[in-house]
Amino acid sequence: MTDIPKNHPRYESLVTREKIVEGVNIGITSKQGLVAQGRGEAFDYLIGEKTTESAAIAERVAVAHILLAENPIISVNGNTAALVPDLMVALADVTGAKLEVNLFHRSDARIHKITEHLKAHGASVVLGNKADKRLDLSHDRAIVDEKGIFSSDVVLVPLEDGDRCHKLIEMGKTVIAVDLNPLSRTSLTASVSIIDNVTRALNNMVQFTKDMKGNSRDSLQEIIDAYDNDRVIADSLYSMQENLKNTAEERGITWT
Ligand code: ATP
Ligand code: MG
Repeated sequence: MTDIPKNHPRYESLVTREKIVEGVNIGITSKQGLVAQGRGEAFDYLIGEKTTESAAIAERVAVAHILLAENPIISVNGNTAALVPDLMVALADVTGAKLEVNLFHRSDARIHKITEHLKAHGASVVLGNKADKRLDLSHDRAIVDEKGIFSSDVVLVPLEDGDRCHKLIEMGKTVIAVDLNPLSRTSLTASVSIIDNVTRALNNMVQFTKDMKGNSRDSLQEIIDAYDNDRVIADSLYSMQENLKNTAEERGITWT
């Protein structure tokens, strides 16, 4: 990986780019994943590259859902495997959720490499290798594990595709999406839409789980019941507008 100087003003973003390029080089991320990351970066720029207050609320609600679930699953794709392998393993460990590899550009070789990559980062069980069920979709993200996504009640799908998100909702599952585009089909369909970079969102969720793990089931349910996902999506758009306005004004451009 290229050495990025720590004092570079865009250090975090550049390190993230290096990780995703490395993911392509070692065969766990698809080339299309680079383009998806680019789209994510553009939205991250608009939101100011920080976790907004409403994203933090969505992250806490997501944790409450996972802690209350019977069979919570974290769906792993080529981008998240490259960007946040440690955090996905940590989140699975603290919540008791299972990891399942699920790919749009699926090949047995990539599934195997991602599984080994997660194990090298400490994962004990990784589902998705012997995926034996199919959702009613025309692409390979349809292929799921019977013990995993197929029978899950809560599924965390960072960087999901809109039509699969829709299908999982139709099946009656609680779907938690992490997607920086508040207007993507995924964000508009999910039960909980976390409009945050997956690198920050998963880090926050691991911390929040440690705080919330001792909470009673009733108090976790109260957090869920008080949640309004449409409000969170609207707040993210407002945050983007305010961030753009402030940045423009700082740079001498009048916002009318
Ligand atoms: P949809 O299918 O939901 O309509 P899309 O087709 O616009 O979405 P996809 O290519 O399916 O987008 O998925 C990529 C999504 O992931 C984009 O919305 C992008 O903003 C988001 N994304 C990419 N990288 C990150 C990241 N690091 N953190 C959070 N979101 C990201
Ligand atoms: Mg899509």
